[in-house]
Amino acid sequence: MSRASRREYHQRLKEALDNRFLGQTLARFQGNYRGSREAGFAGMDFPALAAEVGAAKDAALGRLEELYEQFKAQAEAAGAQVHLAADAAHAREIIADIAAQTGSRRIVKSKSMTSEEIHLNRHLEAQGLQVTETDLGEWIIQLRGEGPSHMVAPAIHLSRSQVAELFTQVTGQKQDPEDIAALVEVARSRLRRAMLEADMGISGANFALASTGTIATVTNEGNARLVTTLPRVHVALVGLEKLVPDLNTALKILRLLPRSATGQLISTYVTWITGAVECAAAGGRKDLHIVFLDNGRLALSQDPVFSQALRCVRCGSCANVCPIFGKVGGHTYGHVYIGAIGLILTYFYHGREAARELVKNCLNCQACKVNCPAGIDLPGLIKKTAGLVMAEQGRPLKNQLMRRVLTNRPLFHFLLRRAYLAQKPLARGGRLIRHLPLFFAPDQEFRSLPVVAAEPLRDRWQRLAPRVSNPRLKVALFGGCLTDFVYPEQGEAMLKLLAGRDIQVDYPLGQSCCGLPAAMASEEETAREVARQNLAALEAEHYDYVLTLCASCASHLKHYPRLLADDPAWTQRAEHMAAKVIDLASFLQKEVGLEPVAGRGAKAAYHAPCHLCRGLGVHQAPRQLLQGAGYDYRPYEDEEVCCGFGGSYSLDFPELSAAILERKLKQVTATGAELLVTDCPGCVLQLEGGLDHRGSPIRVRHLAQALAEAQGK
Ligand code: SF4
Ligand code: SF4
Repeated sequence: MSRASRREYHQRLKEALDNRFLGQTLARFQGNYRGSREAGFAGMDFPALAAEVGAAKDAALGRLEELYEQFKAQAEAAGAQVHLAADAAHAREIIADIAAQTGSRRIVKSKSMTSEEIHLNRHLEAQGLQVTETDLGEWIIQLRGEGPSHMVAPAIHLSRSQVAELFTQVTGQKQDPEDIAALVEVARSRLRRAMLEADMGISGANFALASTGTIATVTNEGNARLVTTLPRVHVALVGLEKLVPDLNTALKILRLLPRSATGQLISTYVTWITGAVECAAAGGRKDLHIVFLDNGRLALSQDPVFSQALRCVRCGSCANVCPIFGKVGGHTYGHVYIGAIGLILTYFYHGREAARELVKNCLNCQACKVNCPAGIDLPGLIKKTAGLVMAEQGRPLKNQLMRRVLTNRPLFHFLLRRAYLAQKPLARGGRLIRHLPLFFAPDQEFRSLPVVAAEPLRDRWQRLAPRVSNPRLKVALFGGCLTDFVYPEQGEAMLKLLAGRDIQVDYPLGQSCCGLPAAMASEEETAREVARQNLAALEAEHYDYVLTLCASCASHLKHYPRLLADDPAWTQRAEHMAAKVIDLASFLQKEVGLEPVAGRGAKAAYHAPCHLCRGLGVHQAPRQLLQGAGYDYRPYEDEEVCCGFGGSYSLDFPELSAAILERKLKQVTATGAELLVTDCPGCVLQLEGGLDHRGSPIRVRHLAQALAEAQGK
């Protein structure tokens, strides 16, 4: 991407970040959504159900052409006409032709992301047709000449005052932003009239059932029912991926879709339409056309990796839980699809240029992945999409350097040791660097940075770690770059906690970076090579556990079997090792059992690292340990929301990293905590740096340090 377009993208982000109303609205929306979703799925085994939906969708995607033929035969037998559009232009032409053939001039539409994808309104209006969106949010943005900023709530970026102002212009009468009923009445009276006068209704569809030729819409406002029933002509524009074999499959998805979209157990209106039904229009029968859109879907459905993206049921959840969407909203995505799925589909539906910068804007926090009702590995696909973009535009220099350095452990560690000397003048004897030269790290002023340690953990190990005769457990510590070279004191605290417990802890010196930074940069081959090196180092002796103080390393080590899945010689070794990987909190609970500490300790808030709570599924253990150690635990709302670090993300998107961190630190400060505890050195870096920059007295500690301090060690 050219510098100019990168600047343009960051400018767009900055403008969104500067929009205070947007930030407040999205924060409230995401908070409410989390609560509603949780209530909606209460008592259900969400991961199992999502896996079931994923499998059902995959099975359908594997036979889309066959399902299409079956659907067409059934729907046409019921009196509908079925069309297949190869691409956006073809779909627009088909629909414009139907309008011409049926003499339709006035068109009403219900909400359809597929019609947004093909820019249908613009085309129809250019033919002189009058098109009215009838979903309230869609109508509002249509009047403003904008696209939707969310798949489910298209006008979420607008305030009541903006809507009142707009309606004042539309009606010529002053509208009161506080009088919601009056505003709704404006919309209702205008839209009802449009629907009664319309010749043609255009809808989307959430499902297309091959067994019966039925389409279904799932909505809350009821406008889709009017759009599909009142006008004499109904055109349904349907993405090919909406085809499912039968009602049972649709119901399986329907159980999750509304819960995932809004937290509702079921949407207000679920409408099933089979064939050209009777109606009051001349001739007594509705003219029903169903236009399926390919636009790259068939090819995508054949792709062994990316076909997963077509499982999407457009619930919007991957935006609702994304910390980035929560800061900048949907218009910054530049096209129709937003949230995690937007980063992927924009590349496939709108091309490389549209996706180039966008696809890098992911923290890998995993929130979208664990909330997706179709079980899509969204962060994984985002990285792979970024890999496609990179392959087409050429590997950036920093990736080439990363490969040279990360695959050569002695060189990598030599450079880290040299970094200690290089940073000395900047650190001025302190633990943190408060001001970096601008050319080195522009826009990094939102946090201080830690200094590289004078003596890494690996050099201290022989001195610190005692040999235990006849240990009951043998543990390999996987340090990761930050524990080893920046925060060796965290490793020392861990050793104090395990001292006298009959546990032998080794530090295999052949270990290197876990490879996550390479995977994040879509440098898959580098990530694989580093993984093989680490496996060899960790297999040097038999260990019962591979313990790590870094949640990101732990989660990535557990990912090695998938990373090396194409390499049978290594897959089994990776699986063997991955099964032994454990985080500190789980290890302490399972194998150590720290003695409870009496008395009331410091007020402590906790930050849950993304890769611990979502990557490893560890939620309660660290909090229980803190409370057991006598800390006065202070919870807050966004405990499990990302801190905005994301490794190199915070260098590439400092404006967003800073904004996400800001919200977290505000909440932590409001708890009155004296201490902020977490169990990932990357999060320590971000949180400590942010608090230091603000001059906050809150101390940041790794869980190992907090527990060791509480135990007086
Ligand atoms: S990718 Fe998943 S979470 Fe995102 S909109 Fe699609 S189904 Fe919903
Ligand atoms: S991994 Fe996190 S940051 Fe990336 S798209 Fe998903 S929710 Fe957003």
